[in-house]
Amino acid sequence: MNNSELLFERAQLFIPGGVNSPVRAFRSVGGTPLFFKSAKGSILTDVDDKNYIDYIGSWGPMILGHCHDPIVETLKKATENTTSFGAPTELEADIAELICEMVPAVEKVRMTNSGTEACMSAIRVARGYTNKEKFIKFEGNYHGHADAFLIKAGSGAITLGVPNSPGVTKGTAQDTLLAPYNDLSAVKKIIEDNPNQIAAIILEPVAGNMGCIPPKKGFLEGLRSLCNEHDIVLIFDEVMTGFRLSKGGASEYYGVTPDMVTLGKIIGGGLPVGAFGGKKEIMDMVAPVGPVYQAGTLSGNPIAMGCGYTLLKELNENPSIYSQLEENTAYFEKELRRVFDNKNLRYTINRVGSMISFHFDIDEVNNFDDACNANADLFKTLFHGVLKRGVYFAPSAFESLFLSTTHTKELLDSTIVAIEETLEEIL
Ligand SMILES: *Cc1c(COP(=O)(O)O)cnc(C)c1O
Repeated sequence: MNNSELLFERAQLFIPGGVNSPVRAFRSVGGTPLFFKSAKGSILTDVDDKNYIDYIGSWGPMILGHCHDPIVETLKKATENTTSFGAPTELEADIAELICEMVPAVEKVRMTNSGTEACMSAIRVARGYTNKEKFIKFEGNYHGHADAFLIKAGSGAITLGVPNSPGVTKGTAQDTLLAPYNDLSAVKKIIEDNPNQIAAIILEPVAGNMGCIPPKKGFLEGLRSLCNEHDIVLIFDEVMTGFRLSKGGASEYYGVTPDMVTLGKIIGGGLPVGAFGGKKEIMDMVAPVGPVYQAGTLSGNPIAMGCGYTLLKELNENPSIYSQLEENTAYFEKELRRVFDNKNLRYTINRVGSMISFHFDIDEVNNFDDACNANADLFKTLFHGVLKRGVYFAPSAFESLFLSTTHTKELLDSTIVAIEETLEEIL
């Protein structure tokens, strides 16, 4: 047994499934998950000293690569002051001001410790603001693991085949209304069927938790008008897309301004951070200004804020980061198409900026049903083939791949070779 296998056996004795978040366990692709010990740029090193090109980037935060020097420096300095005050700091004002400058939809922002907390708080605030109780979410979109969202959820929830989790009460579930992604008429119908009852529509403006699925032309704009018409709070869950598609996220990328935005992943540079923000008048519903309670012992933690601030500042000051990511990911897409075409595969590649995913044996992937109809077995085989050759894709067909600025053409080319060799072997 190698070291990962030994560690996995031990971890399973004391941690459910041996992991602290389900997708990591490799359940949907089979085999033993790798245990890692270090990383630099886009290269991961596992506990058996084998290197891998990383296409997860901690699910997004490593947009400038692992152990990015300015972040390492910030962390070293920050830890000398203390790890937590539980009282206000200058850094919290700094990062809040920077977020408001970068994200057009955000006039005020509250920090949380995860994307889950950000989304559950945003829904609470929208309910408090509108005095209405129900909200609409889309099948296959993931908004973290709060009860109200675990109804046909994406990410690990689909991977494990439990999109509707036991433990979520019927009472909670009945206030979550579901629509297929990219289906505006379904949303209209739900609104008509529930007059004056819908507080919010929450969505991933580019879905990233059922593979990458872009919004169809007019979808975001259509939701915006419906929300205006019916006094519904439009929430873009930009935990994945925020600071990734552009410095202002998907709302800036597509030019559609929601009422609220939730953030996570990149915002903490790899430390546990989330945030929700939006229009002043909505955010002033939040305690202590307003009556909607929301809090956190470690929220705004100085180490996490320092790390996030350093990363966001660099993204804000260097727009070329986004053009470089676009160019390299477009190149990767072109090469993937070349290889898949050579092998006469039927496939769909969806890409927005540096988010990219492929689905086999299907011509279009616009929603959750399409994603489920793709050939997941071929993905699994490909996953293990490239893993053996030193390429670490997300261990599930329902996840997007993320590129960073450290994915050079050379690394992308080696990845393409690994894919070509694998297909050669299995087809
Ligand atoms: C990852 C993710 C979340 C949950 O964030 P956590 O930090 O894992 O709680 C919520 N929404 C989206 C779109 C995500 O990708």
